[in-house]
Amino acid sequence: MERLSVRQARQKEAIGQQAFVQGWIRTRRDSKGGFSFLEVNDGSSFGNLQVIAEAALPNYETEVKHLGAGCSVSIEGEVKASGGKQATEVLASKVTVHGWADPETYPLQKKQHSLEKLREWAHLRPRTNTFGAVTRVRNCVCRSIHNFYQEEGFLYIHSPIITASDCEGAGAMFRVTTLDLEKLPLKDGKVDATQDFFGRPSYLTVSGQLEAEIFACALGKVYTFGPTFRAENSNTSRHLAEFWMVEPEVAFNDLNDNMSLAERFLKRLFRDALSQCDEDMKFFHEHYDKEIISTLEQIVTKEFIRCPYTEAVSILEQCGEKFEYPVSWGIDLQSEHERYLTEKHFKSPVILFDYPRSLKPFYMRVNDDGRTVRAMDVLVPKVGEIIGGSQREERLDVLTQRMAEQHLRAEDYWWYCDLRRYGTVPHAGFGLGLERAVQFITGMQNIRDVIPFPRTPGSADF
Ligand code: ATP
Ligand code: MG
Ligand code: MG
Ligand code: MG
Repeated sequence: MERLSVRQARQKEAIGQQAFVQGWIRTRRDSKGGFSFLEVNDGSSFGNLQVIAEAALPNYETEVKHLGAGCSVSIEGEVKASGGKQATEVLASKVTVHGWADPETYPLQKKQHSLEKLREWAHLRPRTNTFGAVTRVRNCVCRSIHNFYQEEGFLYIHSPIITASDCEGAGAMFRVTTLDLEKLPLKDGKVDATQDFFGRPSYLTVSGQLEAEIFACALGKVYTFGPTFRAENSNTSRHLAEFWMVEPEVAFNDLNDNMSLAERFLKRLFRDALSQCDEDMKFFHEHYDKEIISTLEQIVTKEFIRCPYTEAVSILEQCGEKFEYPVSWGIDLQSEHERYLTEKHFKSPVILFDYPRSLKPFYMRVNDDGRTVRAMDVLVPKVGEIIGGSQREERLDVLTQRMAEQHLRAEDYWWYCDLRRYGTVPHAGFGLGLERAVQFITGMQNIRDVIPFPRTPGSADF
């Protein structure tokens, strides 16, 4: 007898096989003919396996007829062709119950719960259709990320989680401390942060970029992919305090190369999700966003629009739309502006580039105009910014001047400056927020619903 996943047992190639399948009951229906249909799911596919349990089973009256949502079972039986919507079903010769779920108290009864409610049950929501589908798509995206970069010859680098460097300079870092909080050393009446990590300051990383640059400036093409942290006390539908970021970094690439890499990379993720998660994508299409499949299908065949920041600002100034946040050259574009550009004006993903120097961190390559830097943001409909990147400043003198402008001490970044001091090269890279990508692909509106354990202000229990 073969142990089959639900996915395998649902395929017509399995017809005729003796199968052993294990999973959780989604529903039970009793037929008038004296047998029951059990819908079983084990996470391997969106669709359930239909199991027919006949009255002749020795535990039919005592157990099978009491099964309900959430109970765990093992099924032995023959895979048969089904007359219903699905290709196969299993005629059970044995049903073993492992664990009961009291229908009086089991929270996931037939009734649909709101996504907000499900967030309170982070330990049970993987059992829902939505969360199973999100988890499989997220997994597919992660697999594609590695496949894409590995096939292109990139090396996977592990950048540190604990670090002293504030890459974004936005002051949104979580402090890490080994200090006994009861006996904090104080300096001028304040906590002495320089003592945090065994006598050194330290934080949770906001980005692995600076460390990735170290490796790119030695080994050419590298990427990091790991958790990053931002202590932003924001309650939006697209920000988390802990999220995953993919950051490729490539020596000898300029901003154009960087834009092309980002576009090819995103298209690969979208294509793989469409082809490898078709059942899950159909579910998102039916339940969350009626346009998501056609939008993705169109996006993978068309070129992304590339538009300088300055031109985007003129478009926004002249479009006649009433924005809550007024537009003028020099502002950091807000989500409403980004959505206008992608959804109404261009009706396409857009790569904005050459942003005002004053908006962006110290490491971005300054353009000849002196006012702008070689930054790029990839914007997609509904989600807005999904990628942020740039060509990096490779000239030591300009870099140190930019650090001074932003009140950073060059001696704290001596190692970063060394990359420019010895054999400097133009190089570029970007960061894709994994959750923003999954949000866009699934059409889920809230970022909290595409990560297993969302970390947002007030939620860090489990
Ligand atoms: P935003 O403007 O949306 O706050 P950002 O410009 O601060 O993003 P970057 O520093 O450019 O973000 O980070 C690169 C990418 O990481 C972003 O394009 C986005 O996809 C993702 N990202 C950034 N901050 C968050 C967050 N708090 N939660 C989830 N993803 C994030
Ligand atoms: Mg931000
Ligand atoms: Mg931004
Ligand atoms: Mg950004």
